Amino acid sequence: MDIGGLETVVANSAYVSARGSIDGAAAATMRDKKYRSKLNLPHIRQCEQMKTIVDTSFDSMCVRQPIGKRLFQQYLESEADYKNPVDLWKDIEDYIVAQENDRAKKAQKIVNKYYESSSKNFCDFLGDKAVSRVKEDFKNIRGDLFKESEQQLLVHLEAKALTGFKDSMYFLRYVQFKWLESQPVAEDWFMDFRVLGKGGFGEVHACQMKATGKMYANKKLNKKRLKKRKGYDGAIIEKRILAKVHSRFIVTLAYAFQTKTDLCLVMTIMNGGDLRFHMYNVDEKNPGFNETRACYYTAQIICGLEHLHQHRIVYRDLKPENVLLDDAGHVRLSDLGLAVELPPGKDKTQGYAGTPGFMAPELLQKKEYDYTVDYFTLGVTLYEMVAAKGPFRCRGEQVDNNEVTRRILNDPVSYPPTFSQELKDLCEGLMEKDPEKRLGFKNNECAELKNQSFFKELNWGRLEAGMLPPPFVPDPKMVYAKDIDDVGAFSTVKGVVIDNKDDEFYTEFATGNVPIPWQEEMIETGVFGELNIWGQNGKLPNDLDP
Ligand code: ADP
Ligand code: MG
Ligand code: MG
Repeated sequence: MDIGGLETVVANSAYVSARGSIDGAAAATMRDKKYRSKLNLPHIRQCEQMKTIVDTSFDSMCVRQPIGKRLFQQYLESEADYKNPVDLWKDIEDYIVAQENDRAKKAQKIVNKYYESSSKNFCDFLGDKAVSRVKEDFKNIRGDLFKESEQQLLVHLEAKALTGFKDSMYFLRYVQFKWLESQPVAEDWFMDFRVLGKGGFGEVHACQMKATGKMYANKKLNKKRLKKRKGYDGAIIEKRILAKVHSRFIVTLAYAFQTKTDLCLVMTIMNGGDLRFHMYNVDEKNPGFNETRACYYTAQIICGLEHLHQHRIVYRDLKPENVLLDDAGHVRLSDLGLAVELPPGKDKTQGYAGTPGFMAPELLQKKEYDYTVDYFTLGVTLYEMVAAKGPFRCRGEQVDNNEVTRRILNDPVSYPPTFSQELKDLCEGLMEKDPEKRLGFKNNECAELKNQSFFKELNWGRLEAGMLPPPFVPDPKMVYAKDIDDVGAFSTVKGVVIDNKDDEFYTEFATGNVPIPWQEEMIETGVFGELNIWGQNGKLPNDLDP
């Protein structure tokens, strides 16, 4: 073996062993003690300023932020008045993530306990209509069975319990965690593992947050290369959009910081490689996926697109290469560098962006467009997943971009005889040249698209809850990335000088911890539990004792 090959073997083995030990409790053993000890709650006297600036709106603090929600629920549990609502809240959450065969039993229990006026746990804040609807419907074990009740529950809690929470020691604890969350992070908090891929401005490495042991991917953007190639706008847009979306179908940004040479985006690590690799490189004699597998990935991609579009974001760069697999075989959208956000009141955008062979006709014609372009790229992606070639290219054909554009604008797509009618219908609905007629995002959702007969066997509720088993599980010992030598090095950037103005931009970019993923990490790795200690016999713990 040559030195390069050896380097890959060594790097792979460190990376595989770090990633294998990260599920749940094992993460604790991978932590760096020195960094773990830096994660400490400050005395509450240190948080006076934080107290005045934390976001205390109910939805953000008590529902969306994972640590805020935990502490709010702990407060509710400490007050007899809120025992029933908090128990109902937790039982509903438990129902949503339960397996279907457990749901009927759980639903029955919830109904008996909280929905019957004769029960001692009866929740009288639930509206009569919601109660009767649940009672009529609970045998259908739908994922959203209790949605209306949960909303009423939250309205009730906001009205009755929010003030009490803000006066309680649980709120002070929330403020302490927000203080800790606001502390700066830098390069030294992360240990780098091997390179996973190469981007336009730098490499993406596997890395491990030293204090918690959690693995992430670190996408590095070289400052000089960014400046030379005018990448600042794209970098800040990608960062803002990644920090804003929270979906199991899109990679999540957890940290943004800078080093002397790079801007760094630390995000969900996707160890399973990209769809393009799985289509063409796993079984070279038999490229592409069967329809069941393509159906599953397409459904997860649709969930990701729907989330982006609900947040007014046009993705523009959907293609197999940008769809990544995680350890379990679920997929997420990645590489949001070409995405744009439609500002309030503006429903269309413009601009040539995307990958040749995938771009929608209206975009190629330089017209204004909106989310519709992403459903055209979805059609191209789906077609390619099954046909193992793009719809506007023959296999192995070298063809220039103008010809591809001409075909997209003018030529009908021809389908291999192996395509089922359902698949063909769906591809046609998505690759419809007229954006008005194309399947897609309507009335703020993708309901019509999800109802296409290609998906008739698919349980969307379970898929959206992350409970539907993937059709393929990546091998935990395998490294789905190129050998280190084959990743390719960057040439050095010459003739670029970084000045004060650049530094201002870097500071704007390097916002540190992203609240929701940071809080999830603290909970999931057990750090939250280790820090959230209360005094004995109703006494305040030292750090909250004024
Ligand atoms: P660019 O925008 O510069 O093209 P990408 O975001 O596509 O950069 O990242 C470059 C490569 O790094 C990808 O093709 C992929 O191989 C790898 N990569 C990117 N993000 C992740 C991730 N979250 N997990 C694992 N690998 C990733
Ligand atoms: Mg890319
Ligand atoms: Mg990009």
